[in-house]
Formats: sequence, C-alpha cells, structure tokens
Amino acid sequence: CGIVGYVGSQVSSRAQDVVMEGLARLEYRGYDSAGIALVADGAIESRKRSGKLANLISDIGQHPLAASSTAIGHTRWATHGGPTDANAHPHLGGPDGKLALIHNGIIENFHALRTELLEAGVEFASETDTEVVAHLLARAYDGDLTTAMRAVVARLEGAFTLLAVHVDQPGVVVGARRNSPLVVGLGEGENFLGSDVAAFIGYTREAMELEQDQIVTITPDRVEVIGFDGESAKGKTFHVDWDA
Ligand code: GLU
Repeated sequence: CGIVGYVGSQVSSRAQDVVMEGLARLEYRGYDSAGIALVADGAIESRKRSGKLANLISDIGQHPLAASSTAIGHTRWATHGGPTDANAHPHLGGPDGKLALIHNGIIENFHALRTELLEAGVEFASETDTEVVAHLLARAYDGDLTTAMRAVVARLEGAFTLLAVHVDQPGVVVGARRNSPLVVGLGEGENFLGSDVAAFIGYTREAMELEQDQIVTITPDRVEVIGFDGESAKGKTFHVDWDA
C-alpha cells in the first residue's frame, strides 16, 4: 500500500535510512507486511517481514544491511496470497535473483502469465500476482531496466505502481504506473520516488507528478520520463508547501 524509492551518489546508510523513514511515514495508509531491497556489492540485499514495520526494523537491527546508494521499500496490503514473509515484497526476479521488484495494486492477468512462466520452468517463491512481473522483467532484461520495464508493462492488465532495481545497474531505480499513484521527489545529487509525497517530505519539497501510463528512471542526477509508448514525456513539477 506504500512505495518508496531512493538513489543517491554516496554508498552509505542513507539509502536505507530514507526508505525506512518513508515507510514509517506511509504507515497511515494501512498495511500487513513491509520490506526493503538495496543494491550492494553486486547483489540484491532484501529483507521482508509480515506484520508491523517494527518487525522489519528489529530484523534489520539484528542483521544490519550493507551500505548502498540505491534502495526500494514497500508496505503491502495483501490481495493475492496471505500476509506471510514469503509473500511480502520485494520479490526477486530471475534464477539468480539479480532484480528486485515492489508493487502496489493488482495484476489482473497474473494467472495466464504465471502459467506461461511455469511452463518455461520458472520457479516461484510466493503466491503473489507481483512475482510474475519480477520474473518477466528479469527475462526481458538485456542491459537496460527501462527498456525491460517498457516491454513488460505492455503485457500487464490492471492497476499498478511498480519499482525495480537491478544489480547490473546500481544507481538506477525504474518506476511505472497505471491507475495507481507515483510521485518523484527531486533532490540535489539524489532523487526519490513515493506513492505519495509523504514518502520523501523529510528530504525534499520539490516534486514531480507522473501521468497515467508512464515510466520514470531516476539516477542521482537525472529524472527521465517516457510514456508506455516509448515517447519522451515531461512530468508536472510542483512545490509541496504543506506538512505531510
Ligand atoms: N497485489 C499485490 C500483493 O498482493 C500488491 C498488494 C499491495 O498493493 O500492497 O502482493
């Protein structure tokens, strides 16, 4: 039910701090599980726990996460698959788990996609509709996550906000939205994504609204928006002058 993404130029604890604070600020939306993934030392580090955010915080306290520049975080309101640790997001894609994905919304045609992937020999770790997207993205990935996202959203029906990271592209977070909210937070040498501005209000008040059916790619110093049709697009920037 809540989504946060962060990319900065330093490898430090900031990425996880920003994402964990964002998840706390999104708690008001309601959720049954929470998780975080970051790109560190050529691998995805991921933690996810059912129940309150406190469970995830205590897990990270016992097993600290690596320093990183790039992180995504999620609070889940289960629609497909019960509220278990395994069904919590992020979901990893590909046999080697080089990609992590979070999702708010519902993939209406997930059953057909799951059947297709099962026939191709893909193994699933959860019962969610989301995990099909993680595997589709991993299979579509050929060096550029934005291109892979564009190919995959063309196959999805339903409502979704998606964020993905890939170990081969540290310093990049790619988001996509259809009938589900996604806002960009514009920083200096860092950028943010959130399902609403509350996710990053502690760090920047300069924001950009995405339109329907758009894909956004953020790096520490770039924000690029394209439509699902591949045409370059511009979001509407605004200043947040209220307290979230
Ligand atoms: N449909 C997804 C799931 O059940 C995402 C739910 C959400 O929006 O948090 O895992």
